Amino acid sequence: MLALLIYKNMKTKHWYNCSSPLCTEDKSPKTLWYAGEEVCGCRPLTDLQKRQLRINKGYLKGRFQVKGEPRVWTQEELSKSRL
Ligand SMILES: [Zn+2]
Repeated sequence: MLALLIYKNMKTKHWYNCSSPLCTEDKSPKTLWYAGEEVCGCRPLTDLQKRQLRINKGYLKGRFQVKGEPRVWTQEELSKSRL
């Protein structure tokens, strides 16, 4: 029964299928997200997702890099950022 419940959750909960390192449904403030990484596909877009998409656009143009490495943020930092 429990296995069935877990299976049902896996099929219906977005979080289980999201390939972004920082999913909108992930409530951990310490989750890390690097510039250029995938953005959660949840709709409608949150301010945090819009910020990530802006960062990714800039990243493709060579911004948000530190010594050639993509810059990293925690979820908390991204939420407070004004980018
Ligand atoms: Zn997601």
